[in-house]
This record gives sequence, C-alpha cells and structure tokens, in this order.
Amino acid sequence: MMRVLLVEDEKKMSSFIERGLSEEGYGVDTAFDGEEGLALVNKNSYDLMILDWMLPKLDGLALCKKVREKKLKTPIIILTAKDAVEEKIQGLDGGADDYLTKPFAFDELLARMRAMLRRPHDIQKESQLIQGNLCMDLLSREVRINEKVIILSQKEFSLLEFLIRHKGDVVTRTQIAEHVWDQSFDPMSNTIDVYINFLRKKIDSLEGPGRIETIRGAGYRLLPE
Ligand code: CA
Repeated sequence: MMRVLLVEDEKKMSSFIERGLSEEGYGVDTAFDGEEGLALVNKNSYDLMILDWMLPKLDGLALCKKVREKKLKTPIIILTAKDAVEEKIQGLDGGADDYLTKPFAFDELLARMRAMLRRPHDIQKESQLIQGNLCMDLLSREVRINEKVIILSQKEFSLLEFLIRHKGDVVTRTQIAEHVWDQSFDPMSNTIDVYINFLRKKIDSLEGPGRIETIRGAGYRLLPE
C-alpha cells in the first residue's frame, strides 16, 4: 500500500482529500500544522507527501525544505491558493516536485500523484509479482492461483504483497503494521494475526505458493517456492 502524508490545516479540505485517497487504496496520515507534519516525517516513511503551503507553525515550503535536508527523495506536492508564477518557482526551488492550485479537481490530484509515483526514484514499479503458481497483478489488483481468481480484500492484498516482496525473510508485526496499515493502527491489537489467518485460508486452500510461517516471538515468513 502506498502511504501518503497529508498536511493541511483546513479541516474540510483535509477530510475531503483523506477520504478520496483512502477510497483509492492509499493509506493516509494527516497532520494539521507543519510541526505535527514534521513529527510524522521523523517517525514514519511515506511514498508521497501532500503539503499545504499556508500552514500554522511551519509552512508547507519550510516543511518541504526540512524533508529535503533529511535527504528524503519522497515526491512532494504543494497545495496552494496562490498561483503566481514566481511563487511556484520559489516552491520548486525548495524541493517540491509539483504544485496544485486550489481549488482543484480531485482527479487532477490523483493524476499528479500517479505521475510522480511512476518516476524512477520508485524502484519497484513492476506490474506483477509472481510467487510459485500465484500471480498478483498490481495494476488490476487481481490475484490468481493456477489461473483461478482469488478474492482478497484491500488489506489482504497489501499484506500479501508485502510478504511476497520480503519472501524468505522474517517480517515483524511492526514492519507489517508500518507498511500495510496507517498510523491509526494499534500495534497491540491482534489485527495482523487475524489477517494472516484470513490470507492463509485463501491462499492455502488451493495449491498455495508456499506457506506463511509463524516465527514465535518474531513475526512471519513467507516461504519461497
Ligand atoms: Ca492552509
């Protein structure tokens, strides 16, 4: 799952974007001022950031600079009500990758995000993941085992994708939580174990691609084929 940080102080705008992106399958963390945003940047890793320019405490441009000072190449989109060309240039110099002037159509935001996530900094952009007789199509989000379609929920899909990308390695619950859930996730809950079991039932019911092992006290491992 792609994780997005959204820093926007206007509550209505923030919840509009957050809801829209969640519906598209992105995991979204929200902050309402620049400092709160920076705290999340320090704590989590994101695939993309959407920063409003005018923010309390630390504005979007200053936050963008801080992100770049940390040598993070995460794509950043700046939202702004201002649309003067000079200001745009100033923003791009500060390390933002793109701009969106408010008001904007939500589809426009999605298109810009997709364009950025396709850029070369994103190493793993293949469209399919293959594990034994299982094939995950990352674009259509379809999973097949021996050509039979397996219906997975969005979370199950993300979890399986994460396990396949790390096949053979032990992944901890914390790693899974970080990559598959967003920050509202309670690490003490048994949600991950529940989802692992859902997945096991679905992919082991056929001639599965290798079992998901439970490593006691550590986490899980998907056995390579
Ligand atoms: Ca604002």
